[in-house]
Amino acid sequence: MAEKQHVKVMSNLRAANEAQAEVNSITLHKHNVFSFNLMGSPGAGKTTLLEKTINMVKNNAKMAVIEGDIYTSKDADRIAQHGVPVVQINTGGGCHLDAVMVGKVLPQFDLATLNILVIENVGNLVCPADFNLGEDCKVTVLSITEGDDKPAKYPLIFRNSQAVVINKIDLADYTDVNIDNMKRDILSINPEIKIFEVSCRTNQGLEQWCNWLLDNLRK
Ligand code: MG
Ligand code: ZN
Repeated sequence: MAEKQHVKVMSNLRAANEAQAEVNSITLHKHNVFSFNLMGSPGAGKTTLLEKTINMVKNNAKMAVIEGDIYTSKDADRIAQHGVPVVQINTGGGCHLDAVMVGKVLPQFDLATLNILVIENVGNLVCPADFNLGEDCKVTVLSITEGDDKPAKYPLIFRNSQAVVINKIDLADYTDVNIDNMKRDILSINPEIKIFEVSCRTNQGLEQWCNWLLDNLRK
């Protein structure tokens, strides 16, 4: 009986999340804002990728950021230095963002002036993939130092993403990682996924990533 109750609570929570995700999506589309949910492990380079992206697209698109973090505002402080609107969500221990958290902060943005809203999720390869936020697409950052076994071990996040940014590609010679195996596994999980090999340190591959992002705005 207890198990049945638990399943019911979980499915109610999921339905509430989906309903709010729909509201978020409608709100963003009403203002022509393209949004993506940026996911990946702690230390994969999500915030650094965002900092680079903000500077590279600033002449073509107005960006804003929601920073999901468990406790601190360290990432939001970094983003704010680039002069874009940023709102912090602290989950207070929670390991992912949900649509209700995002819906609560959307009124803090002047959506009519924006082209792109990035939602940087909590660093975690598991449950963020399972919660729709109302975003247009999901992007996962995977650094090569995490190992080429990660796509096969955490398939859901790659299955649900439209793009994966393989970061820290400049370190390839210093690791035993097999990038071809990494890419092969990602494509076997999700043949449609777009893969970018980048280094946020050397800027390798960032132009292709930014072009893809800007192409999405025109769709
Ligand atoms: Mg971060
Ligand atoms: Zn979680």
